[in-house]
Amino acid sequence: MTTPPFLDAATPRPRPAFLDDGPHGLFIGGRLRPAQTQETFPTIDPTTETVLTAISAAGTADVDAAVASARAAFEAPSWSAISPQARSRLLFQIADVIEAHREELATLDTLDMGAPLAGSLLMVDHAVEVFRHYAGWPTKIYGQTGPGDPSRLDYVLRQPLGVVAAITAWNGPMLQTSWKLAPALATGNTVVLKPAEQSPLSALRFAALLAETDLPAGVVNVVTGTGPVTGAALVAHPGVDKVSFTGSGPVGKRILTASADTLTRVTLELGGKSPTIVFADADLRAAAATAALAFCGGSGQGCVSGTRVLVQEPVREQFGELLAEELGRYVPGDPFHPDTVMGPIAHREHFDRVVSYFDVAREDGARIALGGRPLGETGLFLPPTLIENVTNDMRIAQEEIFGPVAAIMSFTDADDAVRLGDDTVYGLSASVWTRDLSTAHRTAAALRVGTVWVNTWGEMTSGTMPFGGFKESGIGREHGTDVLDAYTETKAVMMRL
Ligand code: NAD
Repeated sequence: MTTPPFLDAATPRPRPAFLDDGPHGLFIGGRLRPAQTQETFPTIDPTTETVLTAISAAGTADVDAAVASARAAFEAPSWSAISPQARSRLLFQIADVIEAHREELATLDTLDMGAPLAGSLLMVDHAVEVFRHYAGWPTKIYGQTGPGDPSRLDYVLRQPLGVVAAITAWNGPMLQTSWKLAPALATGNTVVLKPAEQSPLSALRFAALLAETDLPAGVVNVVTGTGPVTGAALVAHPGVDKVSFTGSGPVGKRILTASADTLTRVTLELGGKSPTIVFADADLRAAAATAALAFCGGSGQGCVSGTRVLVQEPVREQFGELLAEELGRYVPGDPFHPDTVMGPIAHREHFDRVVSYFDVAREDGARIALGGRPLGETGLFLPPTLIENVTNDMRIAQEEIFGPVAAIMSFTDADDAVRLGDDTVYGLSASVWTRDLSTAHRTAAALRVGTVWVNTWGEMTSGTMPFGGFKESGIGREHGTDVLDAYTETKAVMMRL
């Protein structure tokens, strides 16, 4: 492995003016304002472990104000009574404003959570496409008529839920902002967004940019702060009609429990322990390249990361060699360096947690074949880590590590691959590699996961395909046609004629 440019003095580290525009307040009622708590918390660059800027920490009174703002905007004619065509135009405007500031938003995400700049740009471009996709929805949300008796007219209205609390995780901040906001707004809801405290910058900048659109004040609000304080206050707020959450399983379960008191609608997008399943007949070179990307892309901090590599026995050794070769390309480095394909881990606490799994693996009797120790003195850099001699009951095969760490195991036949692939509490995604169509179809149908990629991994749509998890990977779906159910209520009207 060559020496990675952890901190390359020759690589400029941009500092968007927004960072120095503080105080970085909450966005409530169409303007940025400091939290009533007067408290702030630092957001930290994981490449240098230096403070980027201070962010307001919202307390209960701030959350009250944000929810009240969203409620008032929901009821105001400027939002509730606009035509579907006008709502569609607003979503196109939001897409345009993101596109016009793509470099700045991507730079903020890279500074905040360390993804290589090229990756952050892709995510911002994806967010633009997502808003454009959902801009098409307002004019295509139809009700239904029912087969009532002839002296009655039965019909079904589809109506927005009201105030949506959108809570996001720290990986892919702009992507998650778009996934939550675009469908919520397209279906006529208003939103209080709480971005992750580790990467709140792009959400705040995005909120400020909304002033360049005609979106009525209060339709989108942003509150920043920690999960246990700001997030918990939002989830428990009786004025919130729906919580759309992306994050870890334990927090997701807490949110579901909290929602029992108010019967708030909840969608949960949680973690995974996704398999990459490689059959002996696959294009092994392509499978190895993609298997490496699947757990090293984003430094393995993706919910759909392929962290269990399952290989059919006859090609296990050959595939292991190809995979090791591909992993050599993933040299962590400065996310602003043009050659960097893998940045740091997003924050110190998480870095320590990932590193702790190296000992867990050894103690359980597995063998670290590649990687397995932090790199460099500065920053939160980890190399690709491949673990062998693993059985699927080990913690490293069962628990979401959320770093560039994968366990490699073997299987005998398709039934064994599905059994092993499904043998975790999660069910988010899988990547299946084979040249045999029947094997591909049968395996895709049998796996209990929300997304299957065949001979590929990680491909996204602008919102056309449903996304979500089986089992403990979540409840409900984002995107696809399912998204209408996630953000609307149906109302049956029966009219005696
Ligand atoms: P996390 O659960 O710690 O935090 C997620 C968000 O929830 C943050 O905004 C946090 O402030 C907030 N939060 C924390 N405690 C809360 C509480 N008690 N009430 C309300 N909100 C609270 O998750 P994380 O560490 O930021 O993200 C990593 C996790 O997210 C991984 O498990 C990953 O798989 C998952 N994830 C899932 C998807 C998906 O679409 N399925 C996408 C990205 C990440």
